[in-house]
Amino acid sequence: MGWGGFADEFLVGIAMESLPRRAVLGFNPGNVSDDWEHLFAQAEAHLAAREARAPVRAPSNPSNPSNPSKADLLMPLKRYFGYSSFRPLQEEIIRDSLAGRDVFALLPTGGGKSLCFQLPALVRKGLTVVVSPLIALMKDQVDSLRANGIQAACLNSSLEGDQRRSVWRDLHQGRIRILYVAPERLFVGTLTEELKQWNLGAIAVDEAHCISEWGHDFRPEYRKLSELRTQFPEVPFIALTATATERVRSDILTQLHLRNPATYVASFNRPNLTYRVLPKAQAYSQVVAFLKSRPNDSGIIYCASRNSTEALAAKLNADRIPSLAYHAGLENDVRSRNQERFLRDEVRVVCATVAFGMGINKPNVRFVIHHDLPKNLEGYYQETGRAGRDGLPGECLLLFSAGDVAKQIGFIDEKTDEQERRIARQQLQQMVHYAESSECRRTDLLRYFGEAYPATGCGACDNCLSPRATYDGTLQAQKLLSCVFRIRQKSGFAVGLNHVVAVLTGSESEQVQRWGHQSLSTYGIGKELNRNEWGAIGRELVRLGLLQQDPGQFPTISLTDEGRAALRERRVIQLTRPREAAKPRTSKPGDIDCDELLFEKLRRLRKRLADEQGVPPYIVFGDTSLRHMARDKPVTDDGLLEIPGVGETKLRVYGEEFLTEIREHVRVQGNTAS
Ligand SMILES: [Zn+2]
Repeated sequence: MGWGGFADEFLVGIAMESLPRRAVLGFNPGNVSDDWEHLFAQAEAHLAAREARAPVRAPSNPSNPSNPSKADLLMPLKRYFGYSSFRPLQEEIIRDSLAGRDVFALLPTGGGKSLCFQLPALVRKGLTVVVSPLIALMKDQVDSLRANGIQAACLNSSLEGDQRRSVWRDLHQGRIRILYVAPERLFVGTLTEELKQWNLGAIAVDEAHCISEWGHDFRPEYRKLSELRTQFPEVPFIALTATATERVRSDILTQLHLRNPATYVASFNRPNLTYRVLPKAQAYSQVVAFLKSRPNDSGIIYCASRNSTEALAAKLNADRIPSLAYHAGLENDVRSRNQERFLRDEVRVVCATVAFGMGINKPNVRFVIHHDLPKNLEGYYQETGRAGRDGLPGECLLLFSAGDVAKQIGFIDEKTDEQERRIARQQLQQMVHYAESSECRRTDLLRYFGEAYPATGCGACDNCLSPRATYDGTLQAQKLLSCVFRIRQKSGFAVGLNHVVAVLTGSESEQVQRWGHQSLSTYGIGKELNRNEWGAIGRELVRLGLLQQDPGQFPTISLTDEGRAALRERRVIQLTRPREAAKPRTSKPGDIDCDELLFEKLRRLRKRLADEQGVPPYIVFGDTSLRHMARDKPVTDDGLLEIPGVGETKLRVYGEEFLTEIREHVRVQGNTAS
């Protein structure tokens, strides 16, 4: 082979990414860089000649890259991105970054976040590395940069051998301005060492909220990024995210070791989105009614489970609404085909788990429906944020039910890590408050991100558009508040909301008996309402500041000073009526009012036992039996035998497991508010 052939082989050799391999090729790793410089000069000249590539130069050459003139910035903005002016905060962020400062930028989706590190990458000398969590996201950005004539590449597990070798070759030749890297890829092999050779100009950490376990999208591999600062003490960092609460922000700053960062926080307000929450009742009909009322619009329906995405998509197709499912359990090619078809408007609806969306930039998503309750407000904001990226109106509809809350609590209780459980509970609580609140949704959402919404009422959420009716709830509020007070007075400790409701409704639960709460003057004074209604009132009193939820392993409630004053002075308290569902479920005669959370737990136990035995769940116990169990909460064999549908045989076969579940629930629930 001639010299040309050798150069190719050599460069391929480098792409093997390991010193031993270079040693095999006959180079001494000790002074390898000298050899490289020499060989590169020749290899580059050779390749440039052979492939007639344009010589490498900076796309724009400001006289002083760390303090560019306005024209120095506007030129590449127009030339590469096609804009004549910056969006809010972009120029400030870019200037600080170019000046060598660490920067933290919180810009909402659609706020031009990527430009904040892409444009400086073209102005400054050297390579900019962008850490990004998802391959799809990287690919999308690299493709659009290349389409704009910018030398960008990515390194991740999706690259084939040839592609990888070509990226490495370009890197060694200084042909790449922006390199996207997956966080786990960064510390594999010699990459960090190589970066030091390649004149690293800046490190951008995109989707930086992934570093915090308080965020909605925590990725353990992001934690390793904390080592970057040690490895590259001189290189300026820029961390960007579209969602972060105060807590997540401080996590990002600490863990990335940002030095006196310039911090930019743009508004989270998405004025073109309308937020609505409907009580979930016959969810499928609600979804179909929504879809039929806007037959040409395309949107996303988020579901809690993989199965439900597929079931919903199948049903919609049967009703001639073209839909596809998307979740992480689908084969890769099916998943990307489904995604493509949605992006290409070949189907108008995608039924998806939360796996769908990050890095998907379909501008004309007109609606986002949450078929099930999201785990937290950050996720909800992020998911609804996928509507209306083009600035045209977008509709966000959340279907809310107490049953979903119970399910989520069930999942949370299964977590083994106490810290994780505590975080998840707190986040769920905020989500439920949002869903039940009668305040302006936008104000609520923005407050969650630490932003005060300036107007009183946004005029574009259900609570602003059709305020919920209020009623004089003084009597109910007094009953509940005084029940909290009496329990505390008698027992000397605080209990959860559930227990307060149990006392109010005259429950004969074991807990009530054990603590002697049936002797309280407030015992059974609230039989006119059911448990769910009392639960909602309790949570509203928390929102009104009359009760407070105290953190801890089991959240308990207590009176605030305000609540004590309201009670003492017999203040008039206005409460809100729950919004009527579009199609309210006709209350079936014989419906058994029970502890929905326990019912959910028992249902899951039943499912597990049925699966183990390969029988349908109703063979184990019918719903009636489970609802009775969830109402009466028997903890002994004799108690269980009282439940309709429980005979000797079932007692013998299933008794112990169901009793254990109930006992455990009763033990925890006595102290917990849910
Ligand atoms: Zn509003």
